[in-house]
Amino acid sequence: MAEPVPKSDFDAVLGQRLGELRNAGLWRELRRVGAVDGTSIVVDGRRLRNFAGNDYLGLAAHPDLAEAAARALRDFGASSTASRLISGSLDVHHRLEERIADLKGLPAAVAFSTGHAAAMGTIPALVGGGDIVVLDRLVHACCVDAARLSGATLRVFRHNDVDDLDRILRWCAARPRSTDGGPRVLVVTESLFSMDGDVAPLADIVTCKEHHGAWLMVDEAHATGVVGPQGAGWVARLGLTDRVEVQMGTLGKAVGASGGFIAGSRRLADMLVNRARTFLFSTAPVPAAAAAAAAGIRLAAGPEGDLRRGRLESNIAAALAHVRSAGFEPRSESQILPLLVGAESAAVSLSRRLLEAGILAPAIRYPTVARGQARIRLTLSAAHTPDDLRHLGEALVIRDS
Ligand SMILES: *Cc1c(COP(=O)(O)O)cnc(C)c1O
Repeated sequence: MAEPVPKSDFDAVLGQRLGELRNAGLWRELRRVGAVDGTSIVVDGRRLRNFAGNDYLGLAAHPDLAEAAARALRDFGASSTASRLISGSLDVHHRLEERIADLKGLPAAVAFSTGHAAAMGTIPALVGGGDIVVLDRLVHACCVDAARLSGATLRVFRHNDVDDLDRILRWCAARPRSTDGGPRVLVVTESLFSMDGDVAPLADIVTCKEHHGAWLMVDEAHATGVVGPQGAGWVARLGLTDRVEVQMGTLGKAVGASGGFIAGSRRLADMLVNRARTFLFSTAPVPAAAAAAAAGIRLAAGPEGDLRRGRLESNIAAALAHVRSAGFEPRSESQILPLLVGAESAAVSLSRRLLEAGILAPAIRYPTVARGQARIRLTLSAAHTPDDLRHLGEALVIRDS
């Protein structure tokens, strides 16, 4: 008789690992969202005011984006059906890339399916074994993972600390040179940081990396559409466009659609089309998403964008006033307002009380941020009404009673 096939231990092993997560207070689960209408969101049958989204200009629900997506569905179908280099390089993708390059004031841009895929494709296309990637300690996970994937040596500098960056770049410069002049050194930072809402000292970082002959990649995920002339971002606002080798962004936040991009020189774009594996070996972005993103950029870069950036700015000022009178001192003055609570459990319970008061604002805790740095992360949108902000202020005060 045949031996009985041993039962797979798969479920038992996963069960044990998940149990460990639960015991460590790190269990996460999804919230099922029924409907979204601007900043109002239905969760578990309850209508909440959403202070957790990244739709900073309120463009996700704009009819121009829906109309552009519908037109692309009619013209190109639901799928791009192939990678860009095979047969998927649709007119909508090229139009989107031209819009991104125009917005950024750069010669070229390459669109990816997500910002995450943009990072994962780009860093390994630019550096590899023998090179060095120097990351701000708080850069997004996708840049950390991409740097690891590249095979380069990783170094981390203290958050927004140019002296520490300079120290590391001096260490890099002291490494032995190869015959081709390497190692290449790529510095990676965000402009407006996603969890802290603070801004990198980009002008000083540029001066520093130029001094040491390093390259710089700036992730403008939270600044594109929000900051600078036409919403071009912090690099453009500071007049550094020609001095930053690689700009990155997402089309899923202020632009109101979905996708990611890299912008820079023509040679950078050519390199990515030839070497970025998430570009080469992945079906091209969904036509409807690319068309919606192009419409989102058109709006963000025009008078409608200026109007919405103005509204966002006054919402930030009003929210800051509410938050301060509730006894919090936010560490940023951007559309990302982290309220530092400290203990993981305290942040979770404040988030729960806000939820009871009709406010959706998540507790952000380890491993997204360091242990003991748990916080409520409020995000503001041009679409928030004065009534939304007043409610937020009232809900934050309730915590003390
Ligand atoms: C959201 C985000 C990304 C990833 O962009 P997606 O389009 O959501 O994949 C990258 N970097 C930062 C800083 C982000 O906040």
